[in-house]
Amino acid sequence: MPVLTLSDHGLYCPAADLYIDPWRPVDKAIITHAHADHARPGHQHILASQESWPLLQHRLGSTTGQALRYGEGISIQGVRISLHPAGHILGSAQVRLEHKGEVWVVSGDYKRQSDPTCTAFEVVHAHTFISEVTFGLPVYRWPEPSTVFAQIHQWWDDCAERGQAAVLCCYALGKAQRILQGMLGAERPIYLHGAMQPLTQIYRESGVQMAQAAPVPVKGTDLSGALVLAPPSAVGTPWMRRFNRVSTGFVSGWMQLRGNRRRRGFDRGFVLSDHADWPALIQTIEEINPQRTLLTHGDGSALTRWMREQGRDIAALHQVARNAQDDG
Ligand SMILES: [Zn+2]
Repeated sequence: MPVLTLSDHGLYCPAADLYIDPWRPVDKAIITHAHADHARPGHQHILASQESWPLLQHRLGSTTGQALRYGEGISIQGVRISLHPAGHILGSAQVRLEHKGEVWVVSGDYKRQSDPTCTAFEVVHAHTFISEVTFGLPVYRWPEPSTVFAQIHQWWDDCAERGQAAVLCCYALGKAQRILQGMLGAERPIYLHGAMQPLTQIYRESGVQMAQAAPVPVKGTDLSGALVLAPPSAVGTPWMRRFNRVSTGFVSGWMQLRGNRRRRGFDRGFVLSDHADWPALIQTIEEINPQRTLLTHGDGSALTRWMREQGRDIAALHQVARNAQDDG
């Protein structure tokens, strides 16, 4: 019996009878991190990292279960389980499961770039490594974060000179706090959309140093020269009417493709991602050096082709799961 299989509720460990980031409410769930596509509400008992616990409480409401320190091991029905930093957002974890000498590691979402807002990715050796592959094409190669923060600063300066507010859209959890960290030392005011305030407060309480930011003031306040962080969904809503003169930007790995910025109607795109880019995916698989790699959360066909040419055993997770089901 494999350590993990893919069930209709998500990734499942039969020996320990628990799921990892399940899609539907279950009895026992390991939650890799607090993003909504991984942390869904309704589970009876949650296992998650200590650092992600306050974020999960905020997002899921009352949370019962157990918080683990990174590297701390527990045993459930003969399966040794530990969580290890994934470098994705505050508290994000890889899951290591060991059963009868067989080690599987599930990456969750991860990145290899430096990010002072969370603990850096740890290479954990495994027989089978399940990797996310959100950006699994050779075109995705991230610039240095310091370069991107300098670009954002320059755009903000240009907006201020033109008397515009610089409204910078980004995901409310992880990216907004990473940008605020990158804006430490800024001299003009920074404002946060309401959706980002409690999450940013949790980061501050966890000891993450970031630039000061106030709630976006009521209508009628002059916001020219300010930097305003907002979720992408705020653009095109009445919320935007408070800005007389405005330039909009979007921070995401998807901004690597110029067409995405134009299609989404932003004035500027900045390439900063909390996921591994193409070189980091390859680097990570080579460093872990597993006997087998399974890819999930994205189209892994290009990476599968490339890694097979290097002699790697690699496949899409759902493909393996389907074959296993076919075998009965
Ligand atoms: Zn995520």
